[in-house]
Amino acid sequence: MKKYDLIIVGAGIIGTFCAYHALKKGKSVLLLEKDSQPFEASFRNFGQAVPSGQSLNHWFDYGRKSLKIYRDIQDYTDISMVKNGSWYYASDDQEMTLLEEMHQLFIERDYPNKLFSAEACLMENPMLKKEYVKGGLYFPDEASLNPLVMVHRVREYLIQYMGLHYLPLYSVISVEKKRGIAKIQSANGQVFWADKIIIANGRDTQFLFPEVYTQAELKICKLQMMRLKSQKRTLKANILTGLSIRRYESFHFCPSYARIQANAEQQKLQDQGIHILFKQADDGSIILGDSHSYAPVHQQAQLGFEISTEINEMMLLEAKKILELESWEVESTWAGFYLQANKSDIFTKMLDDVIHIITGIGGKGMTTSPGFTADYIHKLY
Ligand SMILES: Cc1cc2nc3c(=O)[nH]c(=O)nc-3n(C[C@H](O)[C@H](O)[C@H](O)COP(=O)(O)OP(=O)(O)OC[C@H]3O[C@@H](n4cnc5c(N)ncnc54)[C@H](O)[C@@H]3O)c2cc1C
Repeated sequence: MKKYDLIIVGAGIIGTFCAYHALKKGKSVLLLEKDSQPFEASFRNFGQAVPSGQSLNHWFDYGRKSLKIYRDIQDYTDISMVKNGSWYYASDDQEMTLLEEMHQLFIERDYPNKLFSAEACLMENPMLKKEYVKGGLYFPDEASLNPLVMVHRVREYLIQYMGLHYLPLYSVISVEKKRGIAKIQSANGQVFWADKIIIANGRDTQFLFPEVYTQAELKICKLQMMRLKSQKRTLKANILTGLSIRRYESFHFCPSYARIQANAEQQKLQDQGIHILFKQADDGSIILGDSHSYAPVHQQAQLGFEISTEINEMMLLEAKKILELESWEVESTWAGFYLQANKSDIFTKMLDDVIHIITGIGGKGMTTSPGFTADYIHKLY
C-alpha cells in the first residue's frame, strides 16, 4: 500500500493550491474529490481576484501574493487569467470619501491605483450612467479568472507536469491517526495512508468531524448570481459599485467608515446582502452579482434550494441604475454556497498532529487562496 507525504480531501481552490505548493516542495500528493467533477464554490463564483477588497492585514498581502502565483502558472499554461483591472464607482459623497481615503491607504501600501473624477470615469467607461457616478478608483493590477475552468486547468497542469495523483468520485468518510500516520477511508471501501492530511471540504461539514464545525461558530452563505445575454460592447474591467464600497472589508479601515449612513433604498438592498458587481465573460455575456443570505453551519437547509426572483429583480433594478447595457435579458441564474467563520477570517484546525482542516475562507477564496495556502504549506513543511 503506497503511503503519500500528503493526502488532500476536496478539489476546490484550497485543496488544489495546497497540492500545488506541496508538490513544489517535492512532496508526493494524492487529491481526493467526492464528485466526478468538482463543482462547488470554486466553480460557481464571480471570478475576480481583488486584493483591494480585502482586510488590510495579511489578507490583502495574500491577495497580492495570489496574483503573482496566478501569473506564474499562467506563464506555463492558460488558466484563464486576464489582468483587466477593477473599478470601484461611488454613487454618493460618502462613498466618494471612502474612495479618496482608500486611495491614500493603498498609496501607503505601494499598491497601484488611480482616483478618477466623475467626468473622467464617464470618458473611460461610456456605458456608465451619468446620474450614478460620483467618481471612481481603479486598480490596474487586479484580474479576472474564469471559475468554470481555472481550478480544473490548474489541476490538469499539476497532474501532467508535477506528478499529482488525483482520484475523483472518492468520498472520504473517515480519517484517523493510526500508527503515527493518517489513515483515510473512502466510501467505495479503499484505504489510503499519508504522513499528513488536509481536509479542504468547503461546505461539506457533515462527514468528517462534524462536531468541530459547530464549536467553531461557522455559518453558511448562499449567493445568487446571474448571466446576462452576450453584449457587443466590451466592459474593459471588472466593475464594483457603491454597495461594494460599503461592504468590502478593506473600506472598514478608512477613517470615515464608522460614520457611513445608508438611505432607505441602500438599506433594503443591504438587508439582502446585495452589492452589484459586473464582469464580462469571454463570450461577451455579463456576469452580474450578488446577494448573500446566511444560516448556521449545520442548518444549510434553511437557505433553501430556490432562486428568489424577488432578489434577482432587486439586483437588476439596481444594476440598471449603474450601466447602460444593450440587453438585460437574463440567460441563466444560479446559487453558490460557501462557509464563513463568524469570528475569524478562515477556519483552520489541527487534530492529532497529522490531520489539518482548512475551510471557511468566505467570499475571498478566489482572491486569496493561492497566497494563503503557500504560507500554510510552508509552515507545514
Ligand atoms: C457565487 C459566489 C461568488 C464568489 N465570488 C468570488 C470572487 O469573485 N472572488 C473571490 O475571491 N471569491 C469569491 N467567492 C468565494 C470563493 O468561491 C470561495 O471562497 C472558494 O471557492 C472556497 O473554496 P474551497 O476550496 O474552500 O471550497 P469548495 O470550492 O467548496 O471545494 C470543496 C471541495 O471539497 C469536496 N469535498 C467535500 N467533502 C468531501 C469529502 N468528504 N470527500 C471528498 N471530497 C469532498 C467538494 O466536493 C468540493 O469540490 C465566491 C463564492 C460564491 C459561491
